[in-house]
Amino acid sequence: MKRHLLITGGAGFIGSNFISYLLENSNYYITNVDSLTYAGNLENIQSFVKSNRCRSIQADIGEKTELSKVFDQDYFAIINFAAESHVDRSIEDAFPFIHTNIIGTYNLLQAVITGKANKMIQISTDEVYGSLEPNDSPFTETTSLAPNNPYSASKASADLLVRSYFQTYQLPLTVTRCSNNYGPMQHTEKFIPKVITRALNNIEIPLYGDGLNIRDWIYVEDHCRAIHAVLEKGLAGEVYNIGGSEEKTNREIIDYILEKLRKDEKLIKHVADRKGHDRRYSMDSSKISRELGWRPTISFHEGIQRTIQWYRQNEQKNG
Ligand code: NAD
Repeated sequence: MKRHLLITGGAGFIGSNFISYLLENSNYYITNVDSLTYAGNLENIQSFVKSNRCRSIQADIGEKTELSKVFDQDYFAIINFAAESHVDRSIEDAFPFIHTNIIGTYNLLQAVITGKANKMIQISTDEVYGSLEPNDSPFTETTSLAPNNPYSASKASADLLVRSYFQTYQLPLTVTRCSNNYGPMQHTEKFIPKVITRALNNIEIPLYGDGLNIRDWIYVEDHCRAIHAVLEKGLAGEVYNIGGSEEKTNREIIDYILEKLRKDEKLIKHVADRKGHDRRYSMDSSKISRELGWRPTISFHEGIQRTIQWYRQNEQKNG
């Protein structure tokens, strides 16, 4: 039997990697819905729309009437990647984050209520848990939500809506929360592609504050495998944390990439810290490992090699 998935935000970084991954590693038929904001890249979807198992529709998930275009059929599952995703932009103007990340999620939940999809996976982030001190234990699925910027607040709001729809209506809804992703097809406004593309072009690389903020990095393909495991084996009403177990300071990342590219550290330009900049994120992924048998397989060393190679080959297409 043909099983159809509705993937939102498939022209963006993780959504496009996930669709490519599924076309290679599953038999699903896929509808991608994306409004093609500045973050949606047509180049990202060109490879998979050639497949007879994938179609792409331009629509805004925050606009119910537009979104109804995609429900010319029912779906086995919705996987909601679509989001405004850049913290700095949310500090400038939170409204698009509320529109897409909260109202968009609400519209998709309503589609599940009306039977247009059997289940939904909400793709969320470790940022909903707030910030850790250097010696704190990693976030678990039961850590309280404590978002510190409008982006993470909008994602936490969506997670709570999903939780409430599970509790109230007993719908098959699951949330995944992942740490910072890197890899091919990421917009160059994000940290790792910015460092790589600027270093390749000998352009100054901004470093926030003292550069000692810590993130737990995961190669995007490992994240895609985790979502696939949740799609096949995840339980309704559950949250699954996904992390790469590669905690690094921003300064370490820049130094590592400069060394790989044989560039001078004089390219680093210290700039004022981001407002409300979370100090440290760290994920405890033991639940998904134990219950679904997933663990990250691509080391930071290997992932950065692949990412650098991709940006060398595709530089003109991005940013
Ligand atoms: P991205 O910004 O690269 O892509 C987002 C995509 O959503 C774009 O193609 C954009 O056009 C689309 N979009 C935005 N608003 C829309 C709307 N109203 N209707 C339809 N499409 C819309 O983001 P990403 O980095 O690929 O992140 C995908 C998801 O994963 C997000 O929900 C994000 O919160 C989550 N996440 C990201 C990371 C990370 O490190 N990038 C980590 C954890 C979780």
